[in-house]
Amino acid sequence: MSMFATSIMDQLSSVVPEDFLDWKWHYLTLANESGIQNIAIRRIQMGKYNHHPNSIIANLEYYFKELDSIQKDLSNPVCRKGCSGCCSNDFEISMTEFFYILRYMNIHFSVSTIEEFRRKAQEPFHFGPCLFIDHNDESCQIYEARPLICRKYGLLDNLTDCPLLSDVPLSEKNVNTADGTFLFVLPGTDKKFYVGGHPLIYWIEHTENGQLASEKMKRLYEAAFSEDERQFVKMLFL
Ligand code: SF4
Repeated sequence: MSMFATSIMDQLSSVVPEDFLDWKWHYLTLANESGIQNIAIRRIQMGKYNHHPNSIIANLEYYFKELDSIQKDLSNPVCRKGCSGCCSNDFEISMTEFFYILRYMNIHFSVSTIEEFRRKAQEPFHFGPCLFIDHNDESCQIYEARPLICRKYGLLDNLTDCPLLSDVPLSEKNVNTADGTFLFVLPGTDKKFYVGGHPLIYWIEHTENGQLASEKMKRLYEAAFSEDERQFVKMLFL
């Protein structure tokens, strides 16, 4: 590696978080073309997983940011660490939300830990506590990658079983997150079609050693990050 390249790598290491160090050669190429400042900006625009800026995952991260910023702005947010009162297996998440979680798990957990989650998901079916709750402190083990519905609790006013929410009419702050998660535009038309979700435990059951079990799902998983949304939708039909 040349002196120039070494110096760029040193500077990159200070601006690129650990998770991104796998991508350093990509940044190095950009550095040769456009200089250090541009690469840092490009990294932020490309998002946490270096995904395509118009990908289905970029769309999902947009919703995450919207919901998180609403929660943050509430003077008295009702959802907080240590409360896992509504964390159950009794809800469905979309395929793209699960892809995001799977990528997170592969970065943060060992394969044997992911396999342990799968083993738990395969236990006799029940709608008990979510398998991602850490019962030491009732925190969420995939908090940064948690699905949309987990980010919406506290922003919905129709959850009658949460005593904290009974007097908090927050639905006007709700964000419609269906497009690009459950609803997709049919290629060549302006019609939308619905792709159903599944409980988290269903998705995890369909993995093997941290990878999706079917070849089609593996291709969709990669495309969710690396292709633009239209290409991803076309692949749904293949
Ligand atoms: S994913 Fe996390 S926040 Fe969502 S239900 Fe499970 S433990 Fe709770």
